[in-house]
Amino acid sequence: MARPITARPRIVVIGAGFAGLHTLRRLERRVPRGAAEIVLVAPNDYMLYSPLLPQVASGLLTPQSLAISLNRVLRRTRMVPGTAVGVDTEARVVVIEKINGEFTHERYDRLVLAPGSLTRAFDIPGLRDHAFGNKNLAEAVVLRDHVLAQLELANASHDPVEREERCRFIVVGGGYSGAETAAALERLTRDMARRYPELRPLISWHLVDVAPHILPELGVKLGDEALDLLRRMGIEVKLGVSVKEVTENRVTLTDGRVLPCRTLIWTAGTTPSPLMGTLGGEVDRGRLVVGADMAAPGLPGVFALGDAAAVPDLSREDGRYCPPTAQYAQRQGAVAADNVISSLLGRPLHEFHHKDLGLVVDLSGKEALARPLGYELTGLPALGVTRAYHLMAVPSAPSRARVLANWAIDTLLGGEVSRLGFHHGKPSAFVDIEQDHYLAADAVKKEAARLTRSD
Ligand SMILES: Cc1cc2nc3c(=O)[nH]c(=O)nc-3n(C[C@H](O)[C@H](O)[C@H](O)COP(=O)(O)OP(=O)(O)OC[C@H]3O[C@@H](n4cnc5c(N)ncnc54)[C@H](O)[C@@H]3O)c2cc1C
Repeated sequence: MARPITARPRIVVIGAGFAGLHTLRRLERRVPRGAAEIVLVAPNDYMLYSPLLPQVASGLLTPQSLAISLNRVLRRTRMVPGTAVGVDTEARVVVIEKINGEFTHERYDRLVLAPGSLTRAFDIPGLRDHAFGNKNLAEAVVLRDHVLAQLELANASHDPVEREERCRFIVVGGGYSGAETAAALERLTRDMARRYPELRPLISWHLVDVAPHILPELGVKLGDEALDLLRRMGIEVKLGVSVKEVTENRVTLTDGRVLPCRTLIWTAGTTPSPLMGTLGGEVDRGRLVVGADMAAPGLPGVFALGDAAAVPDLSREDGRYCPPTAQYAQRQGAVAADNVISSLLGRPLHEFHHKDLGLVVDLSGKEALARPLGYELTGLPALGVTRAYHLMAVPSAPSRARVLANWAIDTLLGGEVSRLGFHHGKPSAFVDIEQDHYLAADAVKKEAARLTRSD
């Protein structure tokens, strides 16, 4: 039975990334105290500022710098530490697996879905077992430890084949995540090679993409500039090819080349949270299709936004959806919050309208590229814009200060090159770290009925 709309409606938000956190902050500002209950379901007590993850992988930033404490930035949201594993949209109940493995539930009057995306795994033999990701803090720290360990182990080995395998690193995906991760980690291994001069000629970095260009979002001219920059850094960029097979110590490319290698970093795309496909609404390549007001047709009281939602991009005439970027997710948050409030008050909803502000790409050291508002920048002006953009976008003053302090320490004193001990005996492939499980529709209904029996 649906929860009757009471004098104090309950708004449940799933996920506290860019979209979820900005929705919650706006709700806290605009909903008068006591007028509605605001609930967050999220597995972590922080919001991750993911665009700077490559700098955590390289050790330029400490992991804490990018973990924006929800307890600091949210004042009156009730937090449920767990993962939403299903939604009974008829009964208006979210089924939640708490971080201790127990199940619980939340009834809702309005539901805001913002669970983001996962690294997209293709059906490539060996990929699930051996590929590293860089989409969350755990993956960034594991990746950094793994890369540092490869050089230490290569240095300790007397076997030339093992030394070669450990000194070759392959990044798949020529988008901003892949290009920035390759550049940041190449710089880390270059710094590290000062300690192991005999490994220097062996260390090689490869960036592989099936497309004919890298960083298509930058446009052809800046994209070519990025390609040039990466090649000048010594990164071998291979375009028009992908990966055919991965084993523990070799990667076979689709053009037949076999590269002895123990590190494959997979950044070739994301896939929306599988939760979106379990709700019974229309999905487009895994994203829940919503209107420009972010309300989900056929699912009363449900709104969706961010990487997990297909929100029409009204600034374009080609009928495309908004791109899955932080820039859009955070701005959608404010409009979604306003629409949740309007829907409770019976007022008309607003449509989300945003024109892309451009992209910034930090290629490590002094190298960056930026395309703010269509202006093409390279070199120091691009680096200035890139760093200023991130500082403004990090949504808390303590985290901004940590990022700034880390950058200053790196400039004045150099980078940190020690491992944290996340290398042996722990899950390291991205599928192990990011895996999530969701309940099928029947199981959600059964679980929701069981959990709500005592309400
Ligand atoms: C390395 C990297 C670099 C990037 N660089 C840029 C950039 O320069 N500019 C840009 O605009 N974008 C960039 N992006 C993309 C940007 O990070 C995403 O578009 C943005 O995070 C999407 O916001 P979101 O809120 O939809 O999802 P997220 O920020 O991913 O947040 C989703 C949240 O939901 C939680 N969650 C997931 N499932 C559940 C569940 N079932 N129940 C409860 N909680 C759940 C997750 O733990 C997470 O906290 C980058 C991404 C990466 C990985």
